[in-house]
Amino acid sequence: MQKGRLIVISGPSGTGKGTICRELLKSKDLDLSISMTTRAPRSGEIDGVHYYFVSREEFAETVENGGLLEHAEIYGNFYGTPRAAVLERLDKGRDVLLEIEMDGAVQVKKSYPDAVLIFILPPSLEVLKKRLTGRGTETPEQIETRTSRALAEIHRIYDYDYSIINDRLEDAVSDVRTIIRAEHLKVGSGSEQLVRQYEEEK
Ligand code: 5GP
Repeated sequence: MQKGRLIVISGPSGTGKGTICRELLKSKDLDLSISMTTRAPRSGEIDGVHYYFVSREEFAETVENGGLLEHAEIYGNFYGTPRAAVLERLDKGRDVLLEIEMDGAVQVKKSYPDAVLIFILPPSLEVLKKRLTGRGTETPEQIETRTSRALAEIHRIYDYDYSIINDRLEDAVSDVRTIIRAEHLKVGSGSEQLVRQYEEEK
């Protein structure tokens, strides 16, 4: 059996990466990694579904025990990817999706070089601004800050394996699926097994 692929998606806030991930997960051949966080649940968020909500002490203990594949601090809260759950799924041949910010993505690539890092881009900064304005949750100053941060993040695109411009949602989702498919066809660490199969057959 072929090992699953670890797919990491990140991108500036407002690029629609969350929507892309939700669409991808509808197909059932991809498992979402549920992160651990110290931030408080928002209304409607369920422990063990959206996140594992833990105390700072519990988080620190998990880091200490090597229980996280990566972790990062964002706006004063800690977030991290539980290591065992991800590796077990990959071993079972399941593809696993991580939707995490960029520092975490880079850490994942370091500790798991086969991870596939995908960066989601807005069609333009103008469109990004419009999307953020449309949410109605941010003040003009916050939108300016987020736009500047987005630009700084876009400069880090070279840490990624692939980039996708999210103009039409269906196209962006289809692009991610194409990447996953191509990654399965790639000659790599799982190929010895394939060669062995032919050897055994002879
Ligand atoms: P939120 O608090 O809005 O759910 O998430 C804030 C940010 O944390 C988002 O950019 C999200 O991608 C990122 N994030 C969520 N889980 C993780 C994680 O496990 N590790 C890292 N590094 N970032 C995460």
